[in-house]
Amino acid sequence: MADISHNLKTIQGQIAAATSKSGRPADCVQLLAVSKTYPPGIIQQAYAAGQIHFGENRVQELIEKVPALPQDINWHLIGHLQKNKVRKVLAGLAAIHSVDSLAIAQSISRIAGELGLKISIYLQVNISQDDAKFGFATEEMPVVLEQVQAMPHLHIEGLMTIPQFTPDLEKTRHHFSALRDLRDQLAPSSGLPLPGLSMGMSHDFTVAIEEGATIVRVGSAIFGQR
Ligand SMILES: *Cc1c(COP(=O)(O)O)cnc(C)c1O
Repeated sequence: MADISHNLKTIQGQIAAATSKSGRPADCVQLLAVSKTYPPGIIQQAYAAGQIHFGENRVQELIEKVPALPQDINWHLIGHLQKNKVRKVLAGLAAIHSVDSLAIAQSISRIAGELGLKISIYLQVNISQDDAKFGFATEEMPVVLEQVQAMPHLHIEGLMTIPQFTPDLEKTRHHFSALRDLRDQLAPSSGLPLPGLSMGMSHDFTVAIEEGATIVRVGSAIFGQR
């Protein structure tokens, strides 16, 4: 069985090394523990070791886990969201990383308004132009931001991406730096700070941090292979 507490310490050490290597402050990167497919008992072990941000990719699984775990956990939705599930999932979410269409953004803002909430979101960009992945195309982002900015119940944290998998970390680095460059272009033109960059998973989070990630989504390196 995975030694979760040990794995978390190792990863925190790798995060610290990657921030220092790239001259960034040690506390500028949050670790999001991706707990999808793991039962509450396992998640509890990570919580007991001090982890408080957890990510799930399926609405149904998320809403079943929330009541089974401590109330002060910050839950993040990281998977594609369907319109008919928005109402079920909004209350209590720390952030949605996977806002991948104007229609879903609209739906989240409208329902958040009805519930008296303001939801933190990341706009998912399909930076590697992978047909199999959700997300906005890079070139549509100026228009997307203009529209999403006008939706009153959303707080835009920044951008998120899941690059196409390749074992070549230098190719992946290029996708991460492309997301950062896109943010650097969009922030002044939109007038939004867009501080958040949600990028990097178990196999590439140190590279993502070197390229500016502010939150890394790490599952198997904490909990073991799914
Ligand atoms: C599963 C998942 C992760 C974590 O993947 P690992 O390789 O287990 O670290 C990160 N982001 C998203 C969107 C995921 O679905």
